[in-house]
Amino acid sequence: MKQYNPQSLTKNDSERPIFIADMMLGRLARYLRIFGYDVLYFQKISDEDLVNKAESESRIVLTRDSRMIRRSPFKYGRVKFLFIRHDKVLKQLEQLVKELNLELKINLIRCIECNQILKKVDKERAKGKVPIFVYKSITNFAYCSNCDKYYWSGSHLELMNRRFSSLLK
Ligand SMILES: [Zn+2]
Repeated sequence: MKQYNPQSLTKNDSERPIFIADMMLGRLARYLRIFGYDVLYFQKISDEDLVNKAESESRIVLTRDSRMIRRSPFKYGRVKFLFIRHDKVLKQLEQLVKELNLELKINLIRCIECNQILKKVDKERAKGKVPIFVYKSITNFAYCSNCDKYYWSGSHLELMNRRFSSLLK
């Protein structure tokens, strides 16, 4: 079995890796998107399709399935895999911080649900679409046209930022 070398997964420090997560890592995918990472995730996808997508888009496969990694050197030589060792999402993030030097700083550039890049929209467009107290207090909104969903920076994000800052040390 070919051993992966975590350092070789990221080309350099300034370049952010992009990912595709297996079916067991939906929560991790959503969290990584909160930090601005490009993470594809499908509720149903075959190993073959997942690996083909990883290869064609140079994505690192995040997987809880050690069988896929065992098969990979023979079947899918050029694809990079990272085996996620933990079940709990915080532990998973901790592993990614340690092994890939990921920066866990909230960065609302991608839709948490679908990974699409968000568009900045005028405040007026969010009127009636977000809670009134939010509309009144927030000036900048981001929008996912795919999910018809609005995002904004608010106190819950600040709380999350504090929660994850302990992982950064
Ligand atoms: Zn979306």
